[in-house]
Amino acid sequence: MQTKIEKISPTSLQWAKELIEKGDVVGIPTETVYGLGGNAFNDDAVKKIFEVKGRPNDNPLIAHIHRDYDLTKIIDYDPPYAKKLREAFLPGPLTLVYPSTGKVSPYVSCGLNTLAVRVPSHEGAQAFLRLVDIPIVAPSANLSKHVSPTSANHVYDDFAGKIPLILDGGNSTGGIESTVCDVTGDYPVILRPGLITKEMIEKVCGICEVYTPNFDSGEKVKSPGVLYKHYSPRCQTYLFGFDEIDGALWKAEILKKESLKVGILCENGVKTEFEKAGFLVFDLGTTEREMATNLYGQLRLAEKLVDALIAVEPKKQDGVMTGVMNRLKKACLSTDVPRKG
Ligand code: AMP
Ligand code: MG
Repeated sequence: MQTKIEKISPTSLQWAKELIEKGDVVGIPTETVYGLGGNAFNDDAVKKIFEVKGRPNDNPLIAHIHRDYDLTKIIDYDPPYAKKLREAFLPGPLTLVYPSTGKVSPYVSCGLNTLAVRVPSHEGAQAFLRLVDIPIVAPSANLSKHVSPTSANHVYDDFAGKIPLILDGGNSTGGIESTVCDVTGDYPVILRPGLITKEMIEKVCGICEVYTPNFDSGEKVKSPGVLYKHYSPRCQTYLFGFDEIDGALWKAEILKKESLKVGILCENGVKTEFEKAGFLVFDLGTTEREMATNLYGQLRLAEKLVDALIAVEPKKQDGVMTGVMNRLKKACLSTDVPRKG
């Protein structure tokens, strides 16, 4: 199969619509990362998404809708505080998990009786969702465990020959996946951190908790996909704390002596130390939003250029950086054993 990258236009959108109606999957841009989209009502399309990504079949998908789509078609209960969250943050990088009507394919939520729903703000995504006028499930358009894609070319790198079309809507500016927030209970609970932070949700609802799975209690994990090794570049990775620059340099020298090409991923403020020592630096930028935007692009660039990547945690760790660090830690895991965080 030939994979085409097409800029968003009335013609490419119409082609995407026809493919979706046939049960095919299509690469689509959003403001967070690119997604691999399919018809949420079509079992075969949903199964194809899991298959083509190699996604574990206990990791549920998010349904994407346009801003005027009638939510009551797919969700069963809508607490008043969820409405407040939608008014404050949507369209945008916030996914809400509701009780489901069970109308979408059962494969979407992997047997859970809830449904995750998001309204992306990306104009091209909105135009596409409006044209198809059905919920589109769209996990990040990367092979399972690989770095998420923030450009049409990233999607091509993972799925060339496997999907017919990638809609090109430019680089994703958000850079990390949406915040996933459970609204099935009395107050919001964050299942996956992202650009909409706990503090921002607290301001709107007065209260917001962050879910951490308790492995020892034997409880069923609420959002299985948050546990896996994820977002990982295809090179060796090592993670150092922001106060461990000497340790990072020492490790880099050792790896260099082993004849490996070594790169350093770090925030802009500390990069000169590594440049002076002669290492290739992958610069995350300065502000928390810049670091979110740049993270995946730099990880994908690093895997092409070096054998080993030493990541140094940025100093700021709260707010949006909670989401960035969540991704960076998983990207640098050396095993696939489920773990907290
Ligand atoms: P991705 O599409 O790759 O960004 O991953 C989707 C994320 O949303 C994963 O972390 C899933 O676990 C989470 N998710 C999707 N549907 C649900 C659901 N019904 N309940 C809890 N988490 C969900
Ligand atoms: Mg993903």
